[in-house]
Amino acid sequence: MGILEGKTAIVTGAGRGIGKSIALSLAAQGAAIVVNSAREESCGAVADEINRAGGKAVAAAGDVGDAAVVERVVKAADQFGGASILVNNAGITRDGLAMRMKEEDWDEVLRVNLKSAFLLSKAASRPMMKATWGRIINITSIVGVLGNPGQANYCAAKAGMIGLTKSLAKELAPRNILVNAIAPGFITTDMTQKLTDDQKNGILSLIPLKAFGTAENIAGPVLFLCSPAADYITGSVIEVAGGMGM
Ligand code: NAP
Repeated sequence: MGILEGKTAIVTGAGRGIGKSIALSLAAQGAAIVVNSAREESCGAVADEINRAGGKAVAAAGDVGDAAVVERVVKAADQFGGASILVNNAGITRDGLAMRMKEEDWDEVLRVNLKSAFLLSKAASRPMMKATWGRIINITSIVGVLGNPGQANYCAAKAGMIGLTKSLAKELAPRNILVNAIAPGFITTDMTQKLTDDQKNGILSLIPLKAFGTAENIAGPVLFLCSPAADYITGSVIEVAGGMGM
């Protein structure tokens, strides 16, 4: 029997990459999963994979920067007894130097990466409050702590997630809802495949462990934060970045 038997987790952006690995790892510990991603074919395939392996999952596709979609995604958890875990993982980049950045690229990155986490936390914390048990985990980024040229919009959104994490942690602690963030460094996924070899080599030189991380390197700490071993941790930002944040 898994350590998350009886729990229900909503994982956004779980159609591939880090979110998919998180969804599979929570499902393997017995949690029922609401698998969200932008496209139906992507989150549908992950939900199928979990169900075929004997787990419980439902797909709830859609843009989590949209409040109506968020209501639908959170409602999808009701068939499994309501959300008890929320992983705000959906994210996009629209890179460019701030001097040349289009206003719509600023707005879109803030909407998808940050506003979505606010909307989802607000809606999903209702069933958690009722149960006086909940875990919210925000996937921010090491560049939200350090900054990064060419990513002013993304870094601002990820830094905003850290402020959101700490404020919600204080607001929700009396109801035993723990809110934490994980700040990945550079992880091999579709998002980082866009980088040129020169960019990748430049980044590698900044990582003490001299390697990019894997999606599983992030899923492990998420599982830890959902487990009883983390019952006294809230408002924390765990850097999972090969030492890049030092
Ligand atoms: P990815 O491979 O690009 O996957 C992104 C996922 O988010 C996809 O499943 C995509 O849906 C979904 N998505 C995109 N826009 C969405 C929206 N508006 N509503 C709902 N879902 C949406 O990204 P990743 O590398 O796994 O990154 C996951 C998270 O980790 C992001 O928040 C990212 O910022 C953060 N992060 C990544 C790294 C890294 O190095 N990779 C480092 C630090 C932080 P579809 O599959 O349907 O297209």
